[in-house]
Amino acid sequence: MASVSVDAVSLRYPNGTLGLADIDLTVADGESIALVGPSGSGKTTLLRTIAGFLTPTAGQISIGGEVVAGAGRPIPPEARGLGMVFQQHAVWPHWNVARNVDYPLRRARIARTERHQRVEEMLALVGLEGYAGRDPATLSGGQRQRVALARALVTRPRVLLLDEALSALDEPLRDRLRLELHALTRDFGTTVVHVTHDRAEALAIADRVMIMDAGRVQQIGTPAEVLSNPASTFVATFLNDATVVAGTVSDGIFSAADHPLTAPLIGGDVAGDGVAEAAIARQDVRVVADPDGDAIVRSSLFTADGGDLVVDWAGMSFRVKTVGYRPLHGDRVRVEVSGVHAFRQDTAPAAPPLVSA
Ligand code: ADP
Repeated sequence: MASVSVDAVSLRYPNGTLGLADIDLTVADGESIALVGPSGSGKTTLLRTIAGFLTPTAGQISIGGEVVAGAGRPIPPEARGLGMVFQQHAVWPHWNVARNVDYPLRRARIARTERHQRVEEMLALVGLEGYAGRDPATLSGGQRQRVALARALVTRPRVLLLDEALSALDEPLRDRLRLELHALTRDFGTTVVHVTHDRAEALAIADRVMIMDAGRVQQIGTPAEVLSNPASTFVATFLNDATVVAGTVSDGIFSAADHPLTAPLIGGDVAGDGVAEAAIARQDVRVVADPDGDAIVRSSLFTADGGDLVVDWAGMSFRVKTVGYRPLHGDRVRVEVSGVHAFRQDTAPAAPPLVSA
């Protein structure tokens, strides 16, 4: 098991595209971290750089305290002690299940009897007992993904890299494999770096989440931290469908411009008074049934514990999550905002250009 340390890593592709810009990330030994962000934000580039398929243009990467890239000759991917699982279950079709899982052990020149035992053990762990002799073509997508997982974990890698490893699977299988993967890597104490476009998945299984945009780190924190204390309107919107509203801050109260909304500050980066942009998280908005209310429900989706709404309030759309009560499309309501995260507008760092001039 090992820690992963990414220090000031930048990467520019040969065509000039900036893939990563000055990334710092330390993943502790045994920690599980999820990389999330919009498409093109650099998640896969970072994972492939840690794996050794890409070489940083600047900065350094260490695994278990050993520098693997950025100083001297880079350590090749196969010598980095990693396990990897990708979205498309990369299972060799002409080998049976056991042979697929056995492959990394053969490469490591482990004796036949021990290999046999470890393959059996691993297949049992991923719920594939009795499948050793099966041809991969006769398996379901979920079973093939379990084979890929067994193969990635059979050598007990120091670090497991997952690139959308569960994304191609349908629910409820995906949910089950997510739970099993989480339990298995916790049992083994494996360090995990997991790229996913699925926010809920990232927040559910990672110890910490790193949100990326335009090749840069926007925020790193525990799921609770990044949800309750987003570092920017971008993070709040990306993770939590927050509504962003322009306005001003005075004495700790945010007032929207040309809109009746006022609410106390509960976070953000605003010190003192001035122009600001507020992110309003779904959990901080409440709607109350009111036939004379100045807001109207534009969309009302059913959820197990209430509703997922879009409410139009004085010309502005708000995402609202209700618990125990679900107004219907067209209902009149009153909106109450318990608090906002306000961010200075003037000093917000501009996103870097992705392509060099
Ligand atoms: P994500 O995984 O978050 O979707 P990527 O890491 O794939 O993002 O991409 C980050 C940026 O690098 C994007 O602008 C993308 O277009 C660019 N990129 C990715 N792969 C290559 C490549 N092989 N050559 C040039 N640019 C690339």
